[in-house]
Amino acid sequence: MGKRDYYEILGVQKGASEQEIKKAFRQLAKKYHPDLNPDNKEAEVKFKEINEAYEVLSNPEKKKRYDQFGHAGVNGQAGGFNAQGFEGFGDIFGDIFGDFFGGGFSSQGRRRAGPKKGADLKYRVTISFEEAAFGTDKKIEVTRSEDCKECNGTGAKPGTSKKTCSKCGGSGEVRYSQNTPFGQFVNVKTCEACNGSGEEVESPCQSCSGTGKQKKTKKISIKIPAGVDTGSVIPLRGEGELGEKGGPRGDLYIYINVLPHKIFKREGNDIICEYPITFVQATLGDEVEVPTLDGKVKYKIPEGTQTGTVFRLKNKGIQSLRGYGRGDQYVKVNIEVPKNLNNTQKDILREFAKETGVKVYEQKKGFFDKVKDMFDK
Ligand SMILES: [Zn+2]
Ligand SMILES: [Zn+2]
Repeated sequence: MGKRDYYEILGVQKGASEQEIKKAFRQLAKKYHPDLNPDNKEAEVKFKEINEAYEVLSNPEKKKRYDQFGHAGVNGQAGGFNAQGFEGFGDIFGDIFGDFFGGGFSSQGRRRAGPKKGADLKYRVTISFEEAAFGTDKKIEVTRSEDCKECNGTGAKPGTSKKTCSKCGGSGEVRYSQNTPFGQFVNVKTCEACNGSGEEVESPCQSCSGTGKQKKTKKISIKIPAGVDTGSVIPLRGEGELGEKGGPRGDLYIYINVLPHKIFKREGNDIICEYPITFVQATLGDEVEVPTLDGKVKYKIPEGTQTGTVFRLKNKGIQSLRGYGRGDQYVKVNIEVPKNLNNTQKDILREFAKETGVKVYEQKKGFFDKVKDMFDK
C-alpha cells in the first residue's frame, strides 16, 4: 500500500503556507491525540500519520525534498516512528496542549534524550589495619552536583521558562547526510546546542549559568565492614552524580586503602608477626606476652625452641568479610644474638661453652659429622 500524500493527510493544498500547515496540524493533532482517544487504534494510526506529515512539511529542507521527489525524497528521514511512535515531538505537543492541559503532554516526547543515570563517582578511603580488621564507621565529604537551589535544577532564571531548541527543533538530535562509496547515509547525533534536551533556556539562571546544577560538598556516612583490605570496593547506590532529565543518581564507589601495621602483616585473613626472643629464653623456655589485635596473649615458649619456629594463635586473625569466622595469627620466633657484651658476660659465656661442648647442639653436631665424613674419605 502506498503512502498517502502528506498534504492530503493534513488536508491542505500543495503550496500552503507555513502558517496554514501548522494550523491544520494543530487541529488534527488535537482531534486524534491518543490521550483524548484512549484505546482507539484508528486514532493512533491517524495521529502518527499526521505527525509524520507535519514533521516533513514543517521543515523547509524536507518539504523541498518532498515537493521534488515525493516520499522517496524524505524516506528514512521522517524519523522517530518506532514502537512508541511520535518521538521527538514533545515540544510541539507541549506547545499545542500547553494552554489546554498545562503542558502535560510534553513528557510524551524526548524519549531519545530521556532520563539518564548520573555518572558514578570514586572515592578513596584510607583506614588503619585495626579498622580494616574490625570494621569502622567513617564520614566522608564528597563533592558532587546537586540541583541548583535558585532555579530548582531547570537552569532557567526564576520567573522565565524554557523554549524549544532552535537548532534541533526540539528533537534533541541533529541529522546530517554522509556520502560514502556505498551510498548516502543519514547520521543522527545529539544536538550540541541543547545537549539532547530539545530545550534551550531563554535567560539562564545566574547562580548555575543555566546548567541547573551546582557543585556541593556532601557529608556521607559509610559503614566499612570488618575484613576489608586494600583494593576492597564498597558500592553506595544512588550517591553518585545527579542524573539527567530526572534519571537516577549514579553510584559512589568507596575504594579501601589499608595502612601497613608496625608489627602485623596480613595474608588473607591470617596475621603474621615476628617475635624476637633471647637465646636464653629459647634455650630454657619462657612465658612471653605476644601482641594480638585483641590485646596481649600469654604464650609459653618451650625449652629448646629454634629460631624460625612458627606457632599459631587460633582465631586471632582477621574477621572474614564473608562472615566465615576469623583467621589465625602466626608468630615466627627469631632468636637474637646479644651484642656489646662486657668482659664479665663474655667470660660467663666462654665458661658456658667449655661446659657444654658441641653435644648439646644437634644441628651443629650433625653438620660437622657430615663434614668429617666428606673429608675422611
Ligand atoms: Zn540555577
Ligand atoms: Zn537542540
